[in-house]
Amino acid sequence: MIGRRELLALLGAGTAGAAWAASPAPPPASAGPPDPKLLDELVAGNRILADQGVVDGFGHLSVRHDKRPDRFLIARSMAPGLVTPADVMETDLDGVPVDPRGRTPYMERFIHSEIYRARPDVMAVVHSHSPAVIPFGVTKVPLRPVYHMASFLGAGAPVFEIREVAGPDSDMLIRTPALGRALAKALGQAQVVLMRGHGFVATGSNVKTAVMHAVYTEVGARVQAEAMKLGPVTYLNPTEAAKISPQNDALVDKNWDLWRARAMGKQQP
Ligand code: MN
Repeated sequence: MIGRRELLALLGAGTAGAAWAASPAPPPASAGPPDPKLLDELVAGNRILADQGVVDGFGHLSVRHDKRPDRFLIARSMAPGLVTPADVMETDLDGVPVDPRGRTPYMERFIHSEIYRARPDVMAVVHSHSPAVIPFGVTKVPLRPVYHMASFLGAGAPVFEIREVAGPDSDMLIRTPALGRALAKALGQAQVVLMRGHGFVATGSNVKTAVMHAVYTEVGARVQAEAMKLGPVTYLNPTEAAKISPQNDALVDKNWDLWRARAMGKQQP
């Protein structure tokens, strides 16, 4: 016999599924135009992630809407290195685009929606398939703060195992709200979560810090793997990591201005 809890879960799943499949409901209300500065940073951040080699044709960046915390901005399904303001879609926390205008959303937008729902402090989210990070998701070797620029890893870099929620037959993608919720739960209070056999997610309190965390997740993984070849590694201790991390975030403009000039100079809209 089905329990009350299971019944409620089934009803919940059915409601969400029907809303998306049949679309009898009107589209979610728009929060209105975002701060133009936010849109500019989102476009530049996409270009930077591509220019810095953190994403290729795949991967994505989003930012929480400045007018409504239950809306976020993310490009349509496309290569981040080619994103322009016209590609940006407003999306609600169920992953439903507010104004799609025929544009296709990213399949894995639930990575973003469920992290925004679970973590009010997170204002921007990056998803990447960076090959340098993959080894730390498929072995028992944890990704750790090997140097000060990777200090945000001191808050942990847990590994999300999709088989624990989707079983052995998934296609590896975060294609449902339920999978997004499981990923957000694995992230916990960390800044970064690794996805076994897939990639990683980096977060930040704004677009610039999320992009910087994504860049140094990739660089830190490379440096740590190199150091481990030479012998036992001395990592930052928790105090060192906790002390330097906010200082790096506060000085993010030093990197951002350089990275932005390089990325936007190469790829004009
Ligand atoms: Mn992916």
